Amino acid sequence: QLGNSIQILGEQLQYFENSRNEFLADVSHELRTPLTYIKGYSDILAKGKVSNKVDQENYLNIINKEASRLTFLVNDLFEMSKIEVGKFELNKEITMINELIEKVVSNLIPAARKKGLDIKADYQADLPEISVDLERMEQVFYNLIENAIKYTINGQITIRSYLKSDFVIIEIQDSGIGIPSEELPKIWERFYRVDQSRTRKTGGTGLGLYVVKQIIESHHGNIIGSSTENEGSTFTIFLKL
Ligand code: ADP
Repeated sequence: QLGNSIQILGEQLQYFENSRNEFLADVSHELRTPLTYIKGYSDILAKGKVSNKVDQENYLNIINKEASRLTFLVNDLFEMSKIEVGKFELNKEITMINELIEKVVSNLIPAARKKGLDIKADYQADLPEISVDLERMEQVFYNLIENAIKYTINGQITIRSYLKSDFVIIEIQDSGIGIPSEELPKIWERFYRVDQSRTRKTGGTGLGLYVVKQIIESHHGNIIGSSTENEGSTFTIFLKL
């Protein structure tokens, strides 16, 4: 009996050790990519060899975009560690949710354009204000819209907001690769990625949706994902007034 338990415990520890090592490898990879861009382009600019104003601007934009990506990744890691140690507190403020979504969209438009994707916004104009943690909610929209862009090859992304009974509902719909139904329940798990080889190419730590779900639930809200393979996915957030 005891021998058996020790063996199971050993296997579990081995499992955690493996996933921790994999996690560290993923995180290093994720950090290295934007850092390489930032270092590379800032080196070129610092040497003063780029006289063309358009090129200078392009390089600065790349640096800026990669720095934002780093910020959001580090935020995910930070949020995750706070969730783990039970130090997750909200700093709520009354806000117009449409404005917050629009702020995130404008940050991600360059990434969408690069892939030839259109982001369509369909917001209910007279949505009542709600009380949310601004930074965290921004992170939620960033993670979801970034995923929509990442996992869509062509077509468009539609973002809707509307009021239904006493819920503000936000939908992020893409026309992307979709998620197989047997995988759908697992996407909320920490580090979970549907297809390791597929997501390797697109990058990703498997942390995004885990953090999203924790943030939404800490606001006493709900989030559901629905998806059809090769057709697209929709993530729907319910926030109580
Ligand atoms: P990642 O950093 O890998 O994107 P997430 O936690 O955000 O991690 O997502 C977990 C997995 O769920 C992803 O690796 C991807 O396989 C799948 N996924 C998330 N969003 C979408 C989407 N909009 N379309 C298709 N697959 C998605």
